Amino acid sequence: MRVLVLGAVMIDEAMTVATFPNPGATVIAGAPQRDLGGKGANQAIVLKRAAVDVRLVAPVGEDADAEWVAEALTSEGIEVADLVPLGRSTDRSLIFVGPGGENAIASIIGAAEAVDERLARESVDLLGPGDLLVMQGNLTLDATRAALDAARAQGAATLLNPSPIRAEMAALFPLVDCLIVNEGEARLLSGKDTPLEAAIELREDGPGTVVVTLGRLGALALGDDGPVEIAGEPVKAVDSTGAGDTFAAVFAAARYDRGLSLGDSLAAATRAAAITVSRKGTRAAFPTRDELAAILP
Ligand code: ADP
Repeated sequence: MRVLVLGAVMIDEAMTVATFPNPGATVIAGAPQRDLGGKGANQAIVLKRAAVDVRLVAPVGEDADAEWVAEALTSEGIEVADLVPLGRSTDRSLIFVGPGGENAIASIIGAAEAVDERLARESVDLLGPGDLLVMQGNLTLDATRAALDAARAQGAATLLNPSPIRAEMAALFPLVDCLIVNEGEARLLSGKDTPLEAAIELREDGPGTVVVTLGRLGALALGDDGPVEIAGEPVKAVDSTGAGDTFAAVFAAARYDRGLSLGDSLAAATRAAAITVSRKGTRAAFPTRDELAAILP
């Protein structure tokens, strides 16, 4: 089976600051760190490391940064023919990291917003029965709807991890087979206080499987056979960046590529996400091929 990830790639430029700059002020920052980011790229990289036949279609700018993105993806073994140049600049986040590890982020998302319905539909052309489309919340609602709809029409399954969240995304759920949200997103989308109540409510909108991630407490999933809950792995949390992306990608690999049960898929995703939480950074923190081979035989 094939997995297509249609989503955003970003360049993350992080700099450490002793205090966050106030309006009108300049602060001196430590050496910048540049890394590949964007939920689409993150999930594609983890799927690739999990030995899944994955393709990433993502918009970039017509600039030198697009080449840097292509090199970074190539180093992960991901084909870069599907980076779509959409004028403007490659999307980026400027991240200030404060003393306690807290951060302030500004993101430019021009390329992601320029993906139109036609491109979204064309991108999923290669999918057929048994394949999977994986999307996140970065593209416009219309483009996301068009891709989910086309994938369904071609007989492929659809997985949506609608982050960053917007309440309007609930309109897409009838087109989604598997929905993965965190606890806050589940509450916002369903209006329910507990994860189980939220999952029951969200499942009524269409997705046959609803997964709610619960941070250090693990995750809960609701499918045809009722709810399954898995406790989080006891790890020392160092940096949770990318934990949700690791979880979604490994869940997709376990459930759809390896065909594991809902409970075993949840367990695999929880183990993999705990590895990401226990290390600093994003790509550097993702589980390696060897680690994923041990989690997903
Ligand atoms: P997001 O990062 O998208 O907000 P969560 O915080 O729910 O989502 O984290 C996603 C997954 O990462 C969780 O389901 C869990 O498996 C894992 N995880 C997150 N924080 C921890 C932690 N402190 N210890 C162990 N696992 C964690």
